[in-house]
Amino acid sequence: MSGHATKAAEFLKDEERAHWHDQALWFVRDKRDKASKSVPDWEKLRETAHKIKRHTLANLPRYLEEFEQNARAKGVNIHYAYDANEHNSIVLNILKNKGATRVVKSKSMLTEECHLNPFLEKNGIEIIDTDLGERIVQLLGEPPSHIVLPAIHRKKEEVGELFHKYLHTEKGASDPTYLTQAARAHLREKFLAAHAGISGVNFAIAETGGITIVTNEGNADLGNSLPPLYIACMGIEKLLPRARDLSVFTRLLARSATGQPISTYTSHLLGPRPGQEMHIVIVDNMRSDILKKEQFQRSLFCIRCGACLNTCPVYRRSGGYSYEYVIPGPIGIVLAPHRGIEKYKSLPYASTLCGSCSDVCPAKVDLHEQILAWRAEVDASGNLGFMKKNAMGIATSVLGSTLLFTVGGKLARTLLRILPKSLINALTAWGKTRDLPDMPAKSFRAEYRGQQRK
Ligand code: SF4
Repeated sequence: MSGHATKAAEFLKDEERAHWHDQALWFVRDKRDKASKSVPDWEKLRETAHKIKRHTLANLPRYLEEFEQNARAKGVNIHYAYDANEHNSIVLNILKNKGATRVVKSKSMLTEECHLNPFLEKNGIEIIDTDLGERIVQLLGEPPSHIVLPAIHRKKEEVGELFHKYLHTEKGASDPTYLTQAARAHLREKFLAAHAGISGVNFAIAETGGITIVTNEGNADLGNSLPPLYIACMGIEKLLPRARDLSVFTRLLARSATGQPISTYTSHLLGPRPGQEMHIVIVDNMRSDILKKEQFQRSLFCIRCGACLNTCPVYRRSGGYSYEYVIPGPIGIVLAPHRGIEKYKSLPYASTLCGSCSDVCPAKVDLHEQILAWRAEVDASGNLGFMKKNAMGIATSVLGSTLLFTVGGKLARTLLRILPKSLINALTAWGKTRDLPDMPAKSFRAEYRGQQRK
């Protein structure tokens, strides 16, 4: 086993956690289904979102220029970063110029991608993540395991222990309301003492030069309004042409992410508040390279809702850390190999190719098609490995021949009947998290034929 499979096996050792993780994310997926069905024109919205993203990315230089001009006119300082290093240096220089050493940050996958926190800490800056889930993983010294629910892999009892250690809550307390209140009091002090706030950006509007930030906790709003200095960090793909395009994406985002009709806070920032200094750092970090690859460019349509993670049977049963990339799940599988096909060669196989990820994606990213395309790239680059290559060869022969498929199916059914269930469960990944269903006495087809004859 290598890469993802090894890490997944580690995650599955704690059967109770694996089962609970699976159930918790399925609950979110189910909520998303109900919320999406409450919107009669849901499919039309998805199609419109896809078209807006396609149009924007096809005209990116024009919209970037328009956004820059309009944002500057509102008093915002605009910076461009070619890669993660440049992004981090720009942020550090802005902080140094203002003498800022205490920073509050609200959730941003881009700053995770650029590893901003360790960089700033190395340079003597205290940086506090203010989203509750982010703060939990920060105190644990871990990266987020999900792009929307960063601490979904941790139980409330573990959070209770953590908060007892760092926030001096009562020993053994695990009531979520009590723990949330303790975190709120702790973070309020940090907000009030901060020299600067940093946040990500959900959408940037070319027509207005404004940015939109969507949260449930309001932490981004405190971070971008209380301190005298505010820095927003965004990837080039966050642009939308017009303010009215937002109505499409805000309706899709909350429902896809958490099954809510709308997020608690959707804030539109049109320049700094009076007396404040505001900067926006626009980051490429390989996005232009992805844009040039016809097969993969649609991955830039992603609005980071997390729905493809919640629905993915592999993600739910292997946990976020098994991907060893800042973004896990189907969208992570598609994005990671651009940063090194050898390093991430196991990821395109961390998928059943069931297509559920593509079906739920609000921006209609063809995730499973891209995962399949990466498998071909891994093979073409000579990174497939002897075992996998031969296993794939056998699978191709069996699936391509009716005779082999029928004989193989019969053999498998016979083995499932004669071998003890406990042995099969012990040998298969399936059996690590659930029990095999009982085999029917007759195959469905035989039963159906029997009924036809009667
Ligand atoms: S790829 Fe689609 S479903 Fe997955 S996080 Fe992005 S927008 Fe959401």
